[in-house]
Amino acid sequence: MSQHFLLSAKARTLSLASVLRMTDAEAEKTFRHIRWPAGKPVCPNCECPTVYECRRPNGSLRFRCKACRKDFSITSGTLFAHHKMDLQTYLGAIAIFVNEVKGKSALALSRDLGTQYKTAWVLAHKLREAMASELKGRMIGGFGKIAEIDGGYFGGYIKPANERRNRIDRRLVKHQNGKRQCVVVIRERDGKTLPAVFRSEGEALSFIRNRVAPGTEIMADESHAWNDLGARFTMKRINHQEAYSLAGACTNGAEEFFSRMRRAEIGHHHHVAGVYLIRYAQEASWREDHRRVDNGSQAKHIVSLALANRPSVDFCGYWQRSEKSANLPR
Ligand SMILES: [Zn+2]
Repeated sequence: MSQHFLLSAKARTLSLASVLRMTDAEAEKTFRHIRWPAGKPVCPNCECPTVYECRRPNGSLRFRCKACRKDFSITSGTLFAHHKMDLQTYLGAIAIFVNEVKGKSALALSRDLGTQYKTAWVLAHKLREAMASELKGRMIGGFGKIAEIDGGYFGGYIKPANERRNRIDRRLVKHQNGKRQCVVVIRERDGKTLPAVFRSEGEALSFIRNRVAPGTEIMADESHAWNDLGARFTMKRINHQEAYSLAGACTNGAEEFFSRMRRAEIGHHHHVAGVYLIRYAQEASWREDHRRVDNGSQAKHIVSLALANRPSVDFCGYWQRSEKSANLPR
């Protein structure tokens, strides 16, 4: 049997030790070269290429535009805008984040970086937002291609009562708390992955119709929720009570995605429900799609996605928002 990719030397092109050995100048150079061609800064406000290096009194890097006279930093106008930690810490965090192939818990990251839990949690979510930007507008399949679909439920756990006589049937809708959500994934066989979050599998049909290209053959399990897709796509169904794979029909690729996500939930995050569930699903799908890419390229890819993105939609200025909405329940 051939060697597993993660055991091979090809998988290891970046180590945390090498990031820690970097000087401030080297970290700056890395960011500059990823953000701008040949590392030459361009004003994010007016796109003027003539800028002066104009460091702050504390030595941190800042540029001033000749045309509009505005100041900007290496991360201005990007996902890492208004960064408080030094660039090396960001590179270290990204190295740690990509090396944990199932996901990295924010508490463990806070201990690694020596930051507060909230800082590590927000940073990890910004990295997820960078990963998610790659999934925007993604179409799956095409003529002659196969796409597997499946759904998995997350959140809304109800603890069983201590004594048997007090226990209820937790499967019944009337006993659920409404927090359970369904992650639906479309995964091209030997191709890319695309997740989304709904209340149930049945609500995902228009998402699947919009994101799966015509001519794709769809593989699904025996759930009745998928029946209506048969009108638009040729479908193969697999009844998991009989077999996991039969006559070429299987949803094992989609199940692999859920295996990764479930391990991230159980082993690292413990709680991936609520409004951020989609971010954890997008992270799992990015990791799934890049699982055979070496860690150095993965880290570089995440930095370039973060620097190509606008400031965070989820977290930019979130502390000001919470002050303005102080009368809302927190
Ligand atoms: Zn300018």
